[in-house]
Amino acid sequence: MANNFQHIEWGFEIERKGDTTPSFEQVHGTHIVDLDSLEKPQVSLIQADGGLTRQWNLPVSVYSADCYPVLFFTESIGDPIVAVHAGWKGIFSGIVSRAVHLFASDAHLHCVIGPAIGACCFAVREDFIQKWDSAGLNPHRFLTERSHRLYFNLLDHLRAHDLKTLPSHRIHLDQHRCTVCSKPELPSFRRNKSANPRIRSWILKRQ
Ligand SMILES: [Zn+2]
Repeated sequence: MANNFQHIEWGFEIERKGDTTPSFEQVHGTHIVDLDSLEKPQVSLIQADGGLTRQWNLPVSVYSADCYPVLFFTESIGDPIVAVHAGWKGIFSGIVSRAVHLFASDAHLHCVIGPAIGACCFAVREDFIQKWDSAGLNPHRFLTERSHRLYFNLLDHLRAHDLKTLPSHRIHLDQHRCTVCSKPELPSFRRNKSANPRIRSWILKRQ
């Protein structure tokens, strides 16, 4: 994919089972594993929801079907790249903020957000709102009501909270669209009641 950063490539595609091997087992937590520190071969996949590498030509992938794939890189070729799988639980628990803080500085930090459930489709209930309220996350400004249902805007929450130090030109949204309702259809757990297949989101330092 063309972008203005010659040392970075990323992409979002529907996974084909067996084509790629996950580097970690996603568990809706907040751990981001330093893939360069892993000894090989691993006996079993480490549980994590994000991966970091400084290596060239080593893609970091996350898999999702409504959750947010969030990819990070900087303008400096020496810096690491990070890919994060962030559903509402991971976002609530701060995995995206954690990813930002893995970088020594956010002065040249870029973030790419892939296809994920939009505010058009993410209906939430009172217990969800209470949970975010209790944690001081001020959910009310990200809620809209339609036909007596409340919908939460996770993207706006991310931009106002976890990604608030990034100016909008460093948050790349051109591949972001709703997994549930946009066409052509994307993998969506909410729509299909299945996470098979998922979207594979990947980022790579290309040398
Ligand atoms: Zn939608």
